[in-house]
Amino acid sequence: MIRGDLRVEEGRITSVGPSGSPAADEVVDASGFAIVPGFVNAHTHVAMSLLRGIADDRELAGFLETLFAVDAHRSETDVEAGARAGIAEMILSGTTSFLDLYYFEDAIARAVESLGIRGFLGWAVLDPELTTQKGIPVENARDFIGRWKGHPLVSPLVAPQGVYVCGKETWVKAREVADSAGTLLHYHLSETRREVHEHQTKTGRRPVVWLEEIGVLGPRSVAAHAVWLTGEEIRLLAQREVGIAHCPSSNLKLASGGVAPVVELRSAGATVGLGTDSVASNNSLSMLREMHIAGLIQKNQRWDATILPAQELLDLATRDGARLLGRGDDLGSLEVGKQADFSLFRLDHPSLLPARPETVVSHLAYSASDEAIDSVYVAGVPVVRHRSLTRGDWKAIRESAESAAANLWSARPK
Ligand SMILES: [Zn+2]
Repeated sequence: MIRGDLRVEEGRITSVGPSGSPAADEVVDASGFAIVPGFVNAHTHVAMSLLRGIADDRELAGFLETLFAVDAHRSETDVEAGARAGIAEMILSGTTSFLDLYYFEDAIARAVESLGIRGFLGWAVLDPELTTQKGIPVENARDFIGRWKGHPLVSPLVAPQGVYVCGKETWVKAREVADSAGTLLHYHLSETRREVHEHQTKTGRRPVVWLEEIGVLGPRSVAAHAVWLTGEEIRLLAQREVGIAHCPSSNLKLASGGVAPVVELRSAGATVGLGTDSVASNNSLSMLREMHIAGLIQKNQRWDATILPAQELLDLATRDGARLLGRGDDLGSLEVGKQADFSLFRLDHPSLLPARPETVVSHLAYSASDEAIDSVYVAGVPVVRHRSLTRGDWKAIRESAESAAANLWSARPK
């Protein structure tokens, strides 16, 4: 931790530390605040905010049955309403970048643009015969990338949903689209034992080994979950530089069983970030909560309180998340030359007491409340100030989300 000033010019950090000249166009008095790098939520489905609580306390099969039934009724308009509500929740809790997997991503991109967060938006791809999308999903992904590539806040990408809905041809095409467009590939991987078992029965290979054999594993890709892995699969993922989005709340709530081998993945050299997954399975988008749970679950599982200390948990939520996105040089920490994405935490908030230099990182990992976040900046632009959105009206966002939710909830199976 450094005591001092942060200077921002044209959206980037130009100095950190004791400052000689306070002269600037705008000076923000941050005394009494901790300046914390913006969080990177490495796996979510933001437009599902309308579905929070719709399938709680169910087995994965029942959970998915409800979600698929409701999904069939989704429209681009309600996806945008859900995305705006979810993005509001994320920026109010200190997240400045997120990696999304869904369809109608243009609607999500518009929500990103209007509220000022950074969206890494993966167009969901599955086999053409299994989708409700019009046209061929992988082609839709390619078109989506064409429409948004080069946008300062929106990074479009391809997102095969998982081995259970994507055959070899779909995976290979998705990889080709990502490689030719120079984007990330994002997918679900080995989330449940059942997924692994069924894939092995069908193909004779566990998912990671199969993806390696068909030429999909490689850098610039992020696999969400990765709970059920063998030692060989851990080595393969690390060797192939596949990033991992660990989603502990979602795994615990859906009783995926087992615990993702975060420590082994990191020791093998893989980059691991943290994701909330959607609010249908979390049920929050708070990265503070996710850090807390990630730490506790690993310590308890391994009978080792020294595992994943507070600074490493904060790294997972910031710097390592940025590396997953291929933006390690540009995002994820407060360093000269990087984008000015950060939050101001009120040090007088009860959840940060005692606010001493040696406790701040620990409080962020284990106790800080979202309510302690006063302001949030993306590329030096305030998107939250004094706990209010600066680029959107929460009342209007909430009202349109509630009315879109009412339609969707009426479609759920009884
Ligand atoms: Zn997911």
